[in-house]
Amino acid sequence: MNTTDIIGFDDTNANGHRTHVVVLGAGYAGAMAANRLRRNPAVDVTVVNPQPFFVQRIRLHQFVSGTGDPKVGFDDVLADDVRVLVDTAVRIDVRGRRVQLASGACLDYDYLIYAIGTRRRTPEIPGAADHALSIADWTGAQRIRERVEGLAANDMITVVGGGLTGVELAAELAETGHDVRLVGGGGIATSVSARARRATRTQLNRLGVDVVDRGRAVEVGERTVSVEIDGQRMVLSSAATILATGFEAPELAADSGLVVDEIGRLRTDATLVAVGDDRIVGAGDAVAVEGMRLRMSCQAAEPLGAQAADAVLAKIGGEQPNAADQGFVAQCASVGRHAATLQFTHRDDSPARAVVTGRVAAWAKELVCRGTVENIRREAARPGRFSWFGGAKVTSTEPEPVAR
Ligand SMILES: Cc1cc2nc3c(=O)[nH]c(=O)nc-3n(C[C@H](O)[C@H](O)[C@H](O)COP(=O)(O)OP(=O)(O)OC[C@H]3O[C@@H](n4cnc5c(N)ncnc54)[C@H](O)[C@@H]3O)c2cc1C
Repeated sequence: MNTTDIIGFDDTNANGHRTHVVVLGAGYAGAMAANRLRRNPAVDVTVVNPQPFFVQRIRLHQFVSGTGDPKVGFDDVLADDVRVLVDTAVRIDVRGRRVQLASGACLDYDYLIYAIGTRRRTPEIPGAADHALSIADWTGAQRIRERVEGLAANDMITVVGGGLTGVELAAELAETGHDVRLVGGGGIATSVSARARRATRTQLNRLGVDVVDRGRAVEVGERTVSVEIDGQRMVLSSAATILATGFEAPELAADSGLVVDEIGRLRTDATLVAVGDDRIVGAGDAVAVEGMRLRMSCQAAEPLGAQAADAVLAKIGGEQPNAADQGFVAQCASVGRHAATLQFTHRDDSPARAVVTGRVAAWAKELVCRGTVENIRREAARPGRFSWFGGAKVTSTEPEPVAR
């Protein structure tokens, strides 16, 4: 970098020493953390985020189908005295406690909250890197929308990935008049109970989605997708192929020499403090917390954001942070605008008996979407107010549920 503009706060004011906390990423975890840090008035908070607005990632499938707007102004969700820098962190100088930004500027910190979320996980499907789109983030969603708007009538869209994100996307596109195929890769909505799965499947059928649950996408071309079913390979026409095949973390932590897991998430101890660096605290999808198996979700991201802020405030106060605690309540997927699958869960996220479907579930899902933003707003108005369910500590050796 040629220009090194160092951005910092005055070290002191009338109250004595001020502490500067930088929050990387203003998604569910980062925005919640930034607001909560204001419990301590002697803390200055700077948030760094590439978009100049809060992106409700859980509405991205609505954005690509034109049924909803994921953008919320930062002035609506962040407290007035949280400073926002529209920029991207490209490296963390952990020794110098400084973040390098894509603009060329640098930002000094006393503590850093790492909450940059995740991005598409490119499966090893030949052609996917060149020809497939991805619903994982704002940039990917904008590309999908552009492509979808340019499609001719009867052009087939293929959604790859039968998890809840793939279901939501396929349903939304079908309901808005597109021809949609959903390639499940071994199953549709496998994280919910058999009853919830059946209801999801029925609703997808009603919307006209061509569900290929046992199919696996094995190659993506410019206007084709090759699908393997029971050892048979078929080349199918596909004007747009969209991946909903899971997420991975950006390389920022790894590039900065921090300890990461196999999909690039910052490894933290049980109190959310980065392994090997006690000035960095992690939150949201971008972190792997010792002793916890957390589905990537805003349901986990907001509580982790709040607890990351509490951990930093404890450290500033010379105290040991508490171990993070997080529990799940439900998995809820929209299946178009008029139906959803609401699967209540045990705190460890395993399906419980109760399932709600249809319009009531669609209404509940809309309340959840609004509620996630409302939580952040309320935290801005009264820092410390947000509370959450705990109790999901799992020490199982099962593989981590890395996508929602
Ligand atoms: C279509 C879709 C539907 C979903 N539906 C649900 C649902 O119904 N329920 C649910 O619980 N979960 C759902 N999820 C998952 C949920 O959106 C994520 O788990 C959640 O957004 C994670 O929150 P986060 O704060 O960790 O990350 P994010 O919300 O992704 O926020 C991270 C922020 O960091 C920014 N950032 C990235 N890199 C940098 C950088 N280098 N420097 C600075 N900032 C950076 C990003 O731009 C972003 O603003 C859905 C996901 C998708 C894609």
